[in-house]
Amino acid sequence: MNRLARLDHLYVWHPFTQMRDWLRQEPIVIVSGRGPYLRDVHGREYLDANASIWTNLHGHNHPGLNAALIRQLRKIAHSSALGLANEPASLLAAELVRATRSSADRTRPPTQRLCKVFYSDDGSTALEVALKLAFEFTRRTRGPRSKPRFLTLQGAYHGDTLGAVALGHIPLFHQTWRPLLFKTDAVMAPYCYRCPFNRAHPERADARLYRQCQWECIDAVARRLETQRRRRGEPYAAFVFEPLIQGAAGMIPQPQGWLRRVAELLRASGALLIADEVMTGFGRTGLPPGPPPRPASAPLFACQHEQVSPDLLCLAKGLTGGYLPLAATLTTREIFDAFLGRYEEFKTFFHGHSYTANQLGCATALENLRLLRTRASFQARQRLEQALAETLPALWDLPQVGDIRQVGLVVGIELVRDWTTREPFDLREQAGIRVCRALARRGVLTRPIGNVIVLMPPYCITPRQVRQIVESLILACEETFGTHPPVRHRRRSSKHPAPPSRQR
Ligand SMILES: *Cc1c(COP(=O)(O)O)cnc(C)c1O
Repeated sequence: MNRLARLDHLYVWHPFTQMRDWLRQEPIVIVSGRGPYLRDVHGREYLDANASIWTNLHGHNHPGLNAALIRQLRKIAHSSALGLANEPASLLAAELVRATRSSADRTRPPTQRLCKVFYSDDGSTALEVALKLAFEFTRRTRGPRSKPRFLTLQGAYHGDTLGAVALGHIPLFHQTWRPLLFKTDAVMAPYCYRCPFNRAHPERADARLYRQCQWECIDAVARRLETQRRRRGEPYAAFVFEPLIQGAAGMIPQPQGWLRRVAELLRASGALLIADEVMTGFGRTGLPPGPPPRPASAPLFACQHEQVSPDLLCLAKGLTGGYLPLAATLTTREIFDAFLGRYEEFKTFFHGHSYTANQLGCATALENLRLLRTRASFQARQRLEQALAETLPALWDLPQVGDIRQVGLVVGIELVRDWTTREPFDLREQAGIRVCRALARRGVLTRPIGNVIVLMPPYCITPRQVRQIVESLILACEETFGTHPPVRHRRRSSKHPAPPSRQR
């Protein structure tokens, strides 16, 4: 075994990983990357089909991001935001406020538009900040007898720190920690493929498109809000949601119009809206339907697709283009003002991290936003969205494919034992894990969510490489479930990847 792999086995404990299984085989040790490719210690190259857990946007080793990072590094790497301002943090905050503006803001009073940025380190901490701000804002505006309570969606995932875990509703991840947590409520999420109210028989198409229902999921939200008011005498403090698509829940997309209507219900009830765009932000959800906008003003956030303007917006993963851990929680003047007062009133927001507003992260994030505004990036995103839409239907030929869900540049493919009944695989069979292992042997890396295969490559990937991913996935499924002979991964250069047909 390679020395680095051996050291990993000796000393490293990996996240979300059964380490007993991990220790049974030599891990892939990444030493470099370029564009959509990752390269391991043995010189093998892999397509990064999940953008390094949903973070990378423009590809690895990007000249523009590298240069921005090095320019900043020559000045300073970090100085504290506790008591000091800094150059890239100031510039980035202004750009974030500008980028998150939405046409829906016009329907809100000026004090309820996003205009302040609180920095932290990752998605979980961005959510912690939003939670604490919403909690304290609610008590300050409703009075000390208020008991702020949060509403989230079934299958919600908002991070792994305890506040974020309290918002989560994935039993496998969250159940263990319940005794440590405050209570939150979950309401029905629109999971059309497995919705008990969807009377449509399974078809070879995205379940959102052929569903037969009466929006019972929205009625469920209305009933939930009514119950909260009746039982507890006050509305929810806030509704926390992933707009357009729930990620870790299994790439569960919302049918068009769901978010806008639910957001209106929540607003009318008196709750704040906390949008978790940790995964969906920075162009991931593609372009909204309608005439294409100018590249420099194309919407980059999922909330903008449904004309929702939240009171708190959480950003992380793609914020630095996948380079560095940095997060931001944006909020309104109304919430900001609730923390103003004479010093001795102690209304200060007592929260912060050592690396808050880190200069290297902020400088890289600024360049990321600049790149996203270019015509080249806009066209790359359009090209990728279209390549996925054209390539994915080939997967319907596989009997184990139950649902294919694409939202912009994000794809979830749900594997099932029997597509005609939607009968799922038992998690213990590790169908998703086995398919992804077979994919890795073909030079494509991604991580499943249970039985859902995730595809969300960096924006720089070419249509040809997208086809390569999908063809590899077909072969990986055939190998896993059928009689197809296994293949060995071949060494090749990123400039001249072997056509997938040669790898059969
Ligand atoms: C990944 C993720 C988080 C947590 O972010 P970390 O950076 O892993 O802490 C929160 N919300 C959503 C929607 C995510 O996808």
